Amino acid sequence: MSIQQNVPLKRFNTLGVESYAEYMAQVTSIEQFKEVAEFARLSGLKIKVLGGGSNVVMSEAVSGVVVQYKSAQIALLSDDNAQVLIRVDAGFNWHDLVMHSLKQGWYGLENLAFIPGLVGAAPVQNIGAYGVEVKDCIQHVHGVFIDSLEEFHFTAEECGFEYRESIFKQALEGNVLITAVDFKLSKLPTVNVSYAPLDQMAKEKGVPTPLELAHWVIDVRKSKLPQPDQLPNAGSFFKNPVITLEMFEGLVSRYPAMPHYKLDEGVKVPAGWLIDQLGFKGKSFGPVSVHKQQALVLVNHGGKGVDVLHAADEVKQAVLDHYGIQLEQEPRLFA
Ligand code: FAD
Ligand code: NAP
Repeated sequence: MSIQQNVPLKRFNTLGVESYAEYMAQVTSIEQFKEVAEFARLSGLKIKVLGGGSNVVMSEAVSGVVVQYKSAQIALLSDDNAQVLIRVDAGFNWHDLVMHSLKQGWYGLENLAFIPGLVGAAPVQNIGAYGVEVKDCIQHVHGVFIDSLEEFHFTAEECGFEYRESIFKQALEGNVLITAVDFKLSKLPTVNVSYAPLDQMAKEKGVPTPLELAHWVIDVRKSKLPQPDQLPNAGSFFKNPVITLEMFEGLVSRYPAMPHYKLDEGVKVPAGWLIDQLGFKGKSFGPVSVHKQQALVLVNHGGKGVDVLHAADEVKQAVLDHYGIQLEQEPRLFA
């Protein structure tokens, strides 16, 4: 393990933003992390944890010590007729985990195929896609507090999971290194095809196996989303807003075609649809543009972090002015 100075971060973020870390260290154990933490303490520097960089907007200069947890082992903790419990290190690639599980006959993650990033970040925003959230399969999250260096072992309940939220983005933001996640996966090949594109395919082709479903998800995602290695992006830039029933009724009378999903806590409206209605698809704000086919995605054509944030602000302001809805940004600032 070495701690390097002035490290270029462009290849460590899917927006392709030019950025430099004051220091950076890649660690494979808690012991190594503690050595880095001691260096940071003695130098008066903050520690910033980075995964695969697919959900961050980097500033030009990232101060302190950027730490990546690189260990990527899987251990089978228990196995019975109905389910397995596995422990996966934070450095394991997320999509590889989904495909590895399916190969073993362990189900539950298939709708989350082809999401970029590493396992350690999955609980941070409770990743979700196509009607499944990772919290449904998480049993424990393990890690270490950055300030005290004490280890923690949270149950899923203690993680405070909500829609694209968790305690790691709230009260514990900036104070944890997640080192491993325990997943309970089913051996029963039941599938969730509740989302329209999957439901449509199931009607045409019959109910898929979990592995087939993962491939459907991969195909749909490839057809709808720009791939970061071709068009640098951070996925959906804004969360879908959940608005009150009263606000929804006001809006739907103006926009009868507005898609919406009723939830216990209100009505979810696709942010992509709101942005698209403003004619923003393909619109450029300097070096950053709204993707031509997917209005929720901002594509970076060589801009800096501030350019990305400027484009995001323009979109947010237009949505606020037009619909009275305050969009919330999904990618975290990494400064
Ligand atoms: P990073 O971007 O490196 O970090 C994200 C945050 O987590 C940062 O605040 C970081 O400090 C923190 N973090 C990372 N690792 C750790 C750790 N080990 N311990 C503590 N904190 C940590 N997201 C979805 O939910 N659903 C999708 O369908 C989806 N699709 C996407 C499609 C594309 C093309 C892209 C580019 C992104 C997409 N995302 C999606 C967003 C992103 O991939 C996920 O949020 C992913 O989990 C981020 O993982 P990462 O390792 O890249 O995290
Ligand atoms: P889509 O199918 O065009 O649908 C637009 C939005 O409507 C989705 O974001 C989804 O919300 C919501 N939606 C659709 N069907 C729904 C249903 N049956 N019940 C409740 N809500 C429904 O979406 P897309 O942009 O192609 O993305 C497909 C899935 O991948 C979505 O789940 C999306 O969240 C996920 N995704 C996430 C990211 C990211 O960076 N976070 C990037 C790409 C894709 P939800 O987002 O709440 O599911």
